[in-house]
Amino acid sequence: MEILDTDVTIIGAGPVGLCLARALSGAGLDITLVERQAESALSAPAFDGREIGLTHRSRAHMQRLGLWQRLAPEDVSPLRDMQVFNADSLRSMDVSHRGSGRDELGYLVSNQGIRAAAFAAVRGADDVRLLDSSRVVSVDCEARCALVRLEGGRELVSKLLVAADSRFSETRRAFGIGTRMFDVGRSMLVCRVTHDIPHEDTAWEWFGVGQTLARLPLGSAQPLGHRSSLVLTLPAREMGEIQALDDDGFAREMERRSGGRMGSIHSVSERHVYPLVTTYPQRFSGHRFALIGDAAVGMHPVTAHGFNFGLMSVQALASEILQAAAAGTDIAAPGRLARYDREHRRATLPLYLATRGIVGLYTDDRRPARMLRTALLRVGGGLAPFKRLLVDSLTNDGTGTARAPLHPASRGSA
Ligand SMILES: Cc1cc2nc3c(=O)[nH]c(=O)nc-3n(C[C@H](O)[C@H](O)[C@H](O)COP(=O)(O)OP(=O)(O)OC[C@H]3O[C@@H](n4cnc5c(N)ncnc54)[C@H](O)[C@@H]3O)c2cc1C
Repeated sequence: MEILDTDVTIIGAGPVGLCLARALSGAGLDITLVERQAESALSAPAFDGREIGLTHRSRAHMQRLGLWQRLAPEDVSPLRDMQVFNADSLRSMDVSHRGSGRDELGYLVSNQGIRAAAFAAVRGADDVRLLDSSRVVSVDCEARCALVRLEGGRELVSKLLVAADSRFSETRRAFGIGTRMFDVGRSMLVCRVTHDIPHEDTAWEWFGVGQTLARLPLGSAQPLGHRSSLVLTLPAREMGEIQALDDDGFAREMERRSGGRMGSIHSVSERHVYPLVTTYPQRFSGHRFALIGDAAVGMHPVTAHGFNFGLMSVQALASEILQAAAAGTDIAAPGRLARYDREHRRATLPLYLATRGIVGLYTDDRRPARMLRTALLRVGGGLAPFKRLLVDSLTNDGTGTARAPLHPASRGSA
């Protein structure tokens, strides 16, 4: 049996696992990434339909990690404003960048672009080893080390084991960490379209009766503005019927479902469908073990925070590890992992719960729920705490740097 000694083993080289490897690189630690996919799928990831809404804090973090600089300018779309519609009403809840002191609420970047940038930022680092096309057979923790056995007989012995292996983390389950899972009972279809009516860098989310439809602006409104990402949420059975349509049939169906809000739809990209299941484990750490990314918090995409929270987990955990390494102490000391756990829970739980509440209310088509959501939107201020939480989490860059004062004309809108 081949035994490999390493300081940190990260299971999962998705965007968050790669970002942790990048954050730890250069500190005198030996880092090993274990990934079931082949390296070719990481270096040139396929289009997966996801357009990731990024906060200002994530942008700043990605700049520090050397990812942001690797994105082509045309891959970054500004997200200035958002509108939320309910049922057939044309009245919207508006979330504007103007109240935030920023030029935009956030940015949209394809998941494909983020994954490619994360891989490029790690590639070539001589303290990061990638074991691709690898299958984990078992994980274990002893007093002084964590053990990972791979198919083929290789064994990794490390001071700290980090699971970044998706919201359905097998590593989390192997360590017996119970997880609250909420199956929304719907699937989400994502694809890119071009359309007649320009998007003006504004996203909308329409909680219709029997469907939720979102439009995310891609490219800048000037001079483009006719390319968007469509996000359709439906019960799985109905989604099957939509998926069976050819591109032309799909475009006509989306024109109908969007009530003409985008005008005619022309080209349609490859479509991808995801089941909607949110996850929140009882804890984010254990003995010589921590969870990050979706393995820690599996968000509903509606508030666009999964990867943003993933980056926050990287920042919080890397800070503990790097401090310990600099002081020459145990990088997996229980006190440090417990502090990471507390900090990440404090940072994520309020928006996780608020998002669940909003999703529950706005996808419930029974009459009392419809009346309540109409009332909340009509009152205007009914969703103000949620709006404040959302705007602050999008526009706060985490540096504590003062932002411009509120725009006097927009105090009420965000
Ligand atoms: C439709 C959609 C829209 C979204 N929009 C947004 C958004 O607007 N904003 C936002 O912040 N987030 C968004 N997200 C969430 C975002 O995509 C995720 O939060 C992010 O991909 C999580 O990254 P991760 O690295 O933690 O996990 P993943 O991307 O799931 O990567 C996990 C990696 O682990 C590997 N792996 C899994 N199991 C094993 C194993 N046993 N052994 C070895 N390797 C393993 C996988 O192959 C993969 O490479 C969206 C998600 C979806 C589905």
